[in-house]
Parts: sequence; C-alpha cells; structure tokens
Amino acid sequence: MSYKNFPMVPKVIFGRGSFSQLNEVLAPKRLSIHAPFIYFIDDVFKNNLALISRISLSYEDRIIFISANEEPKTTQVDELVEDIILKSKAHPSGIIGIGGGTLLDLAKAVSIMINNDGEAKDYQGWDLVKNPAVYHVGIPTISGTGAEVSRTTVLTGPERKLGINSDYTPFDQVFLDSELTEDVPKNQWFYTGMDCYIHCIESLTGTYLNTFSETYGKMSLDLCKEIFLEGKLSKAEAQEKLMMASWHGGMSIAYSQVGIAHAMSYGLGYLLGTKHGIGNCIVFDHLEEFYPEGVKVFKQMKAKHNIELPKGICEKLEESEFDIMINVALSLEPLWENAIGENWKETITREKLRTLYNKM
Ligand code: NAD
Ligand code: ZN
Repeated sequence: MSYKNFPMVPKVIFGRGSFSQLNEVLAPKRLSIHAPFIYFIDDVFKNNLALISRISLSYEDRIIFISANEEPKTTQVDELVEDIILKSKAHPSGIIGIGGGTLLDLAKAVSIMINNDGEAKDYQGWDLVKNPAVYHVGIPTISGTGAEVSRTTVLTGPERKLGINSDYTPFDQVFLDSELTEDVPKNQWFYTGMDCYIHCIESLTGTYLNTFSETYGKMSLDLCKEIFLEGKLSKAEAQEKLMMASWHGGMSIAYSQVGIAHAMSYGLGYLLGTKHGIGNCIVFDHLEEFYPEGVKVFKQMKAKHNIELPKGICEKLEESEFDIMINVALSLEPLWENAIGENWKETITREKLRTLYNKM
C-alpha cells in the first residue's frame, strides 16, 4: 500500500469583501513590468463594475472575459496559451481565474500549459506534468465544485473528458469571498451546490473512505443539510457556509474518490454537453439503489426548492450513442471501484448502465 502525498492550497484568504485585497496580494508576485497578470473572468461579470473596478490593471496586465456556457476544452486552453505567449513581452507573472469551476479550471490548465510543451490533451491523466505552473490564483464566484481546492482541472479533449491531475495543478492562492456569489441564479445555485452534496455522499459511502476524507466529508455534508434542508440561515450565512462546504467536500474527495453519479454524468457531459452540476443531479436522482439515504435527502432538497430537473434527455438517442456514454462511464474505473468495491464488474454491466441511462 502506498499512500498519496497530496498537495494543498498554500495560501487562502477568507471573508466577505476580501476580494478588495487582491491587488495587495498580487503586487509582490509581479516578476517585472513586462510580466503581466492575466485575469480570466466569467463574462457574466463584464458589466459588473463593483467587481471589475476593484482590479487595478498595471503595465501590460489584461482581462480576458470568457463564457462559462460550455465546459473547458483542451483546444480552448491551447488557444489561450498561444494568445498569452504571443501578446506578452515576458513570461506572465500570474493567471487569476474569477468565476465558477469552468473559469477556475481554465486558469489552472493555462497556468500549467504556459510552462509545459505540447498540447493540453497530452497532459490529461495522472502526473504527466513535468514543470511547475505559472503562479495562479483562484477566486470562486459560485460554490460547490471544490475546484478551488482540488488537484485536477477537468477538460474535454478530442478523445476523453479527463482532468490534468498533478501536484502543480492546485492554486497558489485562493480567495474565498462569499459576497461574490450573491447574484448566482437559483437553479444554478442548486445544481452546483448539489455537486458538493454528491461529492460528500459518494466519498462517505465509498470503499476508499478513510478518516481524513470522512472528517471533511461529514463537515461538508452537515453544512449542505443546514443550507439546503433546514433553511434557517440568513442569505449571507448560507453563502459563507456553502463556500466552506465546497472546500471541505473538495478536501474529502481529494483523499478518496467520487462515485457513480460522477461516472455516469461524465458520459452525459461527453456526448450531450450536459454540464457537470445539472448532469450530476439528473443521474443522482435515479441512484436510490446505490445511495438510498443520499438520494432520499436529495429529493427532499429538490422539493423544498421547487427544482424541476430535465427529463427524457436520453429518449431519442441511438444505440451507438448509448454505447459512447457507457464507454466513457465504464472507463472511470476508480470511481466504480470506490462506489462498489473491487468486484464491481460483476454487477455493473453494460446492460445495467443502459437501463439507468434510459430512465434519464
Ligand atoms: P460554471 O463555472 O460552469 O458556471 C455556471 C453558471 O453560473 C455559468 O452560467 C456562470 O456564468 C454562472 N455564474 C458563476 N458565478 C456567477 C455569479 N456570481 N453570478 C451569476 N452567475 C454566475 O459552474 P460550476 O458548476 O462551478 O463549474 C462547473 C465546471 O467545474 C465543469 O466544467 C466541471 O467539469 C468543473 N469541475 C471541476 C472540478 C475540479 O476539481 N477541478 C470539480 C467539479 C467540477
Ligand atoms: Zn463534481
């Protein structure tokens, strides 16, 4: 047995309004007047002066607004890297990602690829990155994915949807300012929040569970129930607690693994472009057989917040398309092994997955 040696985010600022300290945190990290800070910002903030006006651009610093309508692609990472290298007089001082999991993952991937040869797709997998990344900062504006704390950046490539998992992936600095999550639309709040809840259930019921993961997972699960089920918190408290639930949920899976909802949701994402949060919800809703208590509580939360999930998204698919989703899902072996155990192949057959996808 060999134990994982897991890197954690070394510097974190927590607190409402802490985003205002961004400039003072970045200043000592500037390498030279020619070495810019590049800000990747979710384009929903394009006209949000309260946020943009707090970023002081100096010298060659740039803001690049990016849409989060689609999840990050390896080709998109390659294009951003090329653009930054072509337009910068010197190696950038840092990449700052401001947004949800989509923007955070782009910032992580680009900061790695600026310092590593080849294309992003070459690094999808585990521990393939050779050189440390450019200094990179993560500033979540929606809570749940745990991307702010994780060792991966999930990318859709030509052949697979898979993360760049490496010791160089985690952010050097994170800002946890829950005020930034104020305007998240309700449905999206639920979907991304449920990503966190599902991380907890999949980690806590998995065969990979250990005390490290369990302690973080329980904390995060309790917070999720307080936020989504009990509903006694003020808006600000709920925002702060969800930010910490996301963090702890990420820490929990860092040392264990996710499970069936994630494996099957990756299939939906790869074939249909279904986004991570909503995709996990669509799948998880049908997994009572595997996670009876977790799914029961999920349905209560869904009812409490009047969330209607899309139905029939697999209705018109051809057999060959089901095959693609099943291949993607089954290829994620550690997820199944965590969920079911070493002998998972005895019960998780192609027909089993075909039946489950058919219900969605
Ligand atoms: P997202 O970044 O895809 O954003 C979802 C929507 O919310 C977008 O429309 C975005 O514009 C909007 N939004 C974000 N912040 C907002 C704000 N403050 N106000 C108004 N609108 C706002 O959402 P997500 O669920 O955080 O991220 C999903 C992505 O994260 C997927 O690409 C998934 O693969 C990835 N992911 C990564 C990890 C990891 O560990 N790296 C883990 C889980 C998921
Ligand atoms: Zn997830």
